Amino acid sequence: MSTSPPTGLIWTDRFLDHRTGAHHPERPARLEAIRERLTHTGLMARLSVIQPDPAPAEMVERVHDPAYIARFRQRCAGQAPFIDSQECPLSPGTHEAAWLAAGAPVAAADAVMSGRIRNAFCPVRPPGHHAERATALGFCYFNNVAVAAEHLRHRHGLQRVAILDWDVHHGNGTQHHFEEDPHVLFVSIHQHPRTLFPGTGFEDETGRGPGAGTVLNCPMMPGAGDEQYVRAFEQRILPAIQGFEPQFLLVSAGFDAHMDDPLANIRLTTEAFEWMTRHVRLLAEEVCGGRMVTVLEGGYNLDALADCVQAHVESLMAVR
Ligand SMILES: [Zn+2]
Repeated sequence: MSTSPPTGLIWTDRFLDHRTGAHHPERPARLEAIRERLTHTGLMARLSVIQPDPAPAEMVERVHDPAYIARFRQRCAGQAPFIDSQECPLSPGTHEAAWLAAGAPVAAADAVMSGRIRNAFCPVRPPGHHAERATALGFCYFNNVAVAAEHLRHRHGLQRVAILDWDVHHGNGTQHHFEEDPHVLFVSIHQHPRTLFPGTGFEDETGRGPGAGTVLNCPMMPGAGDEQYVRAFEQRILPAIQGFEPQFLLVSAGFDAHMDDPLANIRLTTEAFEWMTRHVRLLAEEVCGGRMVTVLEGGYNLDALADCVQAHVESLMAVR
């Protein structure tokens, strides 16, 4: 019998209360599909399920302008239909869901740091990686993974945190927050910005000032598949993370690079997500005692999302 602590799953039904309206791809059914799959495969019962608290304001203020946080609160309270753009709709449950989504990877990080769990997956809504310091963007309101990275730096005193973003869209908000910070490595693999939202994440964006060299972007052309991703991981992504010697690894885990996803044109199989998860987990075990938390970003075909999350969670739980 293994003495290893369990894999964590950070969950609250409040994530479903962020209602985006008919026809919006980022919809509650995404998490219902994940919950259904993890339950009927028996995986849920083997996970340590942790309920998140809303992130404290001072944590979110490390990443977002207080005036933006106030504007978000006021627009939610005033029942405004959206914030900043119509792709960021507001509903009565949006405000609480956003604070809980920011708190989820924080709860996961604390539980991993304490040794209570080995690693964790956070299937949150709303997602976070497009949210900028003072702007909601691309279905995102608060940058969940950035809040967790800052928490690890400030609360746990870590000197080096790595964030890998394999969502098919570039994590513009995360890059912009950390691109001058030498303590946080940001690595992103995504569909080429000339061909997809948000239009950032070119190869020559490599960090600025004291953070020069701590950003790695691997844009992939439309039609790229497993072979091109494996090559990018083996030749660039895994060596970059290894060379940084992170003390904790966060993953912005979007599943919209799957071949069946309706929002993009990358052609990964479900097996590629298992492969990426396994290799990143093995690297985390090598460099930082396996301390790794993954946070849901995109993934809009419900069947593909459930398949990929199942493969992802099984791989997080695997012993070797
Ligand atoms: Zn995405």
